[in-house]
This record gives sequence, C-alpha cells and structure tokens, in this order.
Amino acid sequence: MKPPHLGCETARIKEGVNCAILFEMPSSTLTHLECPECHRKFTADRVQTFCTDCRSPLLARYDLAAASRSVTRDQISGRRRGLWRWAELLPVRLERFRLTLGEGDTPLLPAPRLGAQLGLKNLFIKDESSNPTSSFKARGLAVAVGRALELGRKEFVIPTAGNAGGALAFYAARAGARAHIFMPKDAPRANQEEVRASGAELQLVDGLISDAARLAGEAARRHRWFDVSTFKEPYRLEGKKTMGLELAEAFGWDLPDVILYPTGGGTGLVGMWKAFAELGSLGWIGAGRPRMVTVQADGCAPIVRAFQEGTPRAEPWEGAQTLAAGLRVPAVFADRLVLRVLQESGGTAVAVSDQEMLTAQGEMAQMEGIFAAPEGAATLAGLRRLREQDWIRPTERVVLFNTGSGLKYL
Ligand SMILES: *Cc1c(COP(=O)(O)O)cnc(C)c1O
Ligand SMILES: [Zn+2]
Repeated sequence: MKPPHLGCETARIKEGVNCAILFEMPSSTLTHLECPECHRKFTADRVQTFCTDCRSPLLARYDLAAASRSVTRDQISGRRRGLWRWAELLPVRLERFRLTLGEGDTPLLPAPRLGAQLGLKNLFIKDESSNPTSSFKARGLAVAVGRALELGRKEFVIPTAGNAGGALAFYAARAGARAHIFMPKDAPRANQEEVRASGAELQLVDGLISDAARLAGEAARRHRWFDVSTFKEPYRLEGKKTMGLELAEAFGWDLPDVILYPTGGGTGLVGMWKAFAELGSLGWIGAGRPRMVTVQADGCAPIVRAFQEGTPRAEPWEGAQTLAAGLRVPAVFADRLVLRVLQESGGTAVAVSDQEMLTAQGEMAQMEGIFAAPEGAATLAGLRRLREQDWIRPTERVVLFNTGSGLKYL
C-alpha cells in the first residue's frame, strides 16, 4: 500500500475528491448529513451534533452512485475482515483515523436446538459478544471516535449504562485520546473496572442514564469535550449499521425474514434499517426487507408502549427498572426513527420480564453454547412470545441479536 499523500488528503477533505485510484485504498463516499424530520442538509466535514430545531439525530448521506462505480459487493467480501472493509459506506476519510481493535465480522451462528424447541427451521444468533470490550458498542465507538479525531476533536465524554463507556474508554486509549465516562453507580462492575483499567476518568452517578446524560452534557459544555451520547452525534449509528451490512452478506444478499433486537437507544435497529436502504440503492439487494422487532424489559419499555398505542413519539418511562443495563433507557432520543422502522418494516415490539431473560440466558448457554448478556437473551424470550402468537412462521429465517457477553454481569 502506498504511503499517504498529504496534498491529496487535504484535497479530499476540502472537496471530497476521490483518491481511491491513487491510493488503491477505499474512499469514503460521505457527502453530507441530513435531518430526517425537516430534511435540512448539514456539511459533514465539520463537527456536528443533531438538528437542534427538531431535536432529531442527523443521518449521514453518501454518494451511492459513486460507491457503486468504485467497488462491488464481491470486492468488499474479499477484503481483510473487520468493519472497515465497508469504508465506502462509512464516514472516515483517512486510513489513519480508521481505528481498530478488531471489531465487526462477528459470527452468525445457526441455532438448531433452540430452533427445534421453538418449531423454527432457520434460527440464527448474530453473536456480538466477540467484539472488542465484549459488546457491539465497539462498532459505534470505533467509527464515532475515529471520525471525531479526523475532524480535530481530542477529548471525549459519554453517559453510559455500561458498555458504551467501556468501548469509548478503549478506543480513546487506542488513539491516545482522553475520555470521561458518566455511569450510573449500579452499572455492572465489569464496566466500571474496564473503564478504570483503560485510564479514562470514571464518574459514578447516583441515578439513571438520563441523570448521567445531564451531567455529561454539562461537563461537555464546560470543558468543550466532545459528547458521544447515543444519536447526539451522527456516526455511532454508522458503525452499528455494519451489523446490517454483514447480515446481508451472510445471507447471500437475500435478507432474513425477522430480526429481533434488544432496544435501548435503538442505534442498532435504526442503523440496520439504514444499511438495508443503502444496499437497496446500490442494487446489491432486492426489495425484500426483514420485519424488525424491538425487545425491551417490562420494567422499561417506552418503545413497546408507544408502538402499542400507535403514537409517533415515545414518552419517557417513569421508574425504569431492569437488570439489563443496556435496556434501562427511559427516554429514547431517536424515538421517531425507531418507531418508524417498526412501522415501515411491518415489525412489532415486545416486553419481557427479567426472569424470562435469565431463563433464556440459561437456555442459550446450555442449548447453543452462547453465554449471552441478559439484553441478548431477552430476544430469545421475545421470540418465544411471538411464536406462541404465531407471528412467525416455522420456515422463516429469524435472527436474534446477542449484543454482549454474559461475562460482563459476573
Ligand atoms: C447498549 C446495549 C443495548 C441497546 O443498544 P441500542 O442500539 O442503543 O438500542 C443492548 N444490549 C447491550 C448489551 C448493550 O450494551
Ligand atoms: Zn431538523
């Protein structure tokens, strides 16, 4: 591979010039950001947060026509493993900001024994626990931290239920950057310890993630730190989008019928749906889309409630309580986007109890050899519910997302 060429790098940043031919290195085709509510466009080559008029996340937009001219899906399949092989569809322009600890390309495991028990012939588990820091948060933070560094930010802050803080802490360490993590004091011990081990600053908060978010926001303004809260910057979504890209590829570019996703802030759900739209525009997949299913805890189910009531917004959940830290998200910033995905895909939303999660965790471990986080196990509990209601047919291809490792809860 040729060394970076500075003049060219600068031109690419300023004018979005495509240097792939010079470098033989994949180029991002990022063009701009867009508010999905008011459709205002924002420049992407400056630090952006969210649309303050609409209080909506911003979505990254790409020149997909250029992407389809410069690369084929088979070329991407032939590249070195990891999420950066999708570089044309990711926001980071320069190779040296494509931070990596080996994230992405997690296994899609058939689950034949659980499938037989549930009367399903084609059940799979996408096992995200093999990511760095043992959860899928690695995908979002690798991309968001890399892109923020590329745009000149060097110090980061995040409110977190646990795993996002661990992931930010390690990607910041990887880049030699500073991170400040605001975490409820009842977050899993493993998350607290990993943050300490990384050298990031850990602030334990007496309250919920919404309280941590308020304190992190204040600290961000006071110290001019970059706030990487879920959906308050545009690029964690892009990292999580790669789960959808990988699924499409793994199913031979013919998407599965149903995806069950444990939904906190909803980044993965919205990200996968965005991935499918982009793959569709590229002509790499056909018109078929999975029915997307949100699974939440019955002690904190703002999306399930809003879906059942048919409202476009989800009211904050009072007194949120569940052992699944990643699902303890009472106020969902991207509620409109999450609910739209459920509607558009013909999906649904189910809430399960903590006890059902623990039972499902045992079943996944004993029947398939996967030690899931309770959040991941919740999808199995949700699937059982949907099978009882005959919402899923026996031959449909169903994917459960195990978003993290059970080891984090020991
Ligand atoms: C953060 C987290 C979730 C929720 O993810 P979102 O994409 O924000 O909805 C689910 N499971 C685990 C293990 C998590 O850490
Ligand atoms: Zn807007």
